[in-house]
Amino acid sequence: MCVLGLGLIGGSVLRAAAAAGREAFGYNRSADGMNAAIADGFDATTELETALTRAAESGALIVLAVPVPALPALLDHIRRLAPDCPLTDVTSVKASVLDAVTAAGLADRFVGGHPMAGTAHSGWPAGHAGLFEGAPWVISVDDHVDPAVFSTVLDLILDCGSIAVPARSEEHDAAAAAISHLPHLLAEALAVTAADVPLAFALAAGSFRDGTRVAGTAPELVRAMCEANWLHLLPALDRVIELLGDARDSLSAADSVAELVNHGHAARTRYDNFPRHEIVTVVVGANDWRRELAAAGRAGGMIRSALPTLDSR
Ligand code: NAD
Repeated sequence: MCVLGLGLIGGSVLRAAAAAGREAFGYNRSADGMNAAIADGFDATTELETALTRAAESGALIVLAVPVPALPALLDHIRRLAPDCPLTDVTSVKASVLDAVTAAGLADRFVGGHPMAGTAHSGWPAGHAGLFEGAPWVISVDDHVDPAVFSTVLDLILDCGSIAVPARSEEHDAAAAAISHLPHLLAEALAVTAADVPLAFALAAGSFRDGTRVAGTAPELVRAMCEANWLHLLPALDRVIELLGDARDSLSAADSVAELVNHGHAARTRYDNFPRHEIVTVVVGANDWRRELAAAGRAGGMIRSALPTLDSR
């Protein structure tokens, strides 16, 4: 397989794939990242054309591991040099990536992905082979998804030690707005608010550290994912502003934040008890398989081992 972008996520995919025994090589735009990967014993180049020609010759699975704004230029090269390779990505938004892939004429060979793992650090040195161990990794089941490419991408996810969660792109984006992009903006707002208060940083402990942890992420990455998912982030922001506005009014009028706190505690308890189950019976490629997987993913279903296919049944 061929990883484009050897930063935190792409570098970790390359390491995990190699650790699983795959032949894997990577492209990185900067020589620093490439040299660091080579020094650690990996196969890397700064020559995109070389990497893509090699991918085309070997039919490698190409993994896009760059921020959203970098995608159109890479897709253009893939269309020219490796249009028949199976293609996936690790991007934190899914619908806009699918749009870009479709605009490049590569949707037939594309199955989107998003590992729900990461740190606030960037670049090759921040990655490691175990980053995805036990983490959910979204795999797209949009209408266009090809069964063979789906199985190829699923194999990679499982080789990385992750648990695959099937989802449609637009549902992923609505969920990611709520559980990832909104928390990023809340963390930034929390950090700014505390920074205005003398003594706050001197007293800050676990609650502040946990609540602002993701504000340590590189600003361009946070912007790239939030801005690319604006369609779903706006209603999530409206909802949180409404909840905080109501809590503020209630605190001011009745000295109480009971409603927000009680509802918040109940919602968190529901999350703690959210039922999860393993998906084992859906046959990839059978009638309605994408719809069944999307429904199962919504209900807490996860894929822990290869699913049956029409050929293997
Ligand atoms: P990173 O900064 O560590 O790595 C980004 C990589 O993209 C680097 O290799 C960089 O050289 C390359 N790149 C940037 N602009 C480029 C361009 N114009 N052309 C070619 N290459 C370019 O970032 P990361 O955290 O590995 O993020 C990569 C992708 O993974 C992003 O799409 C991000 O949304 C997604 N993601 C990040 C996390 C996280 O926690 N950081 C989690 C899941 C998914």
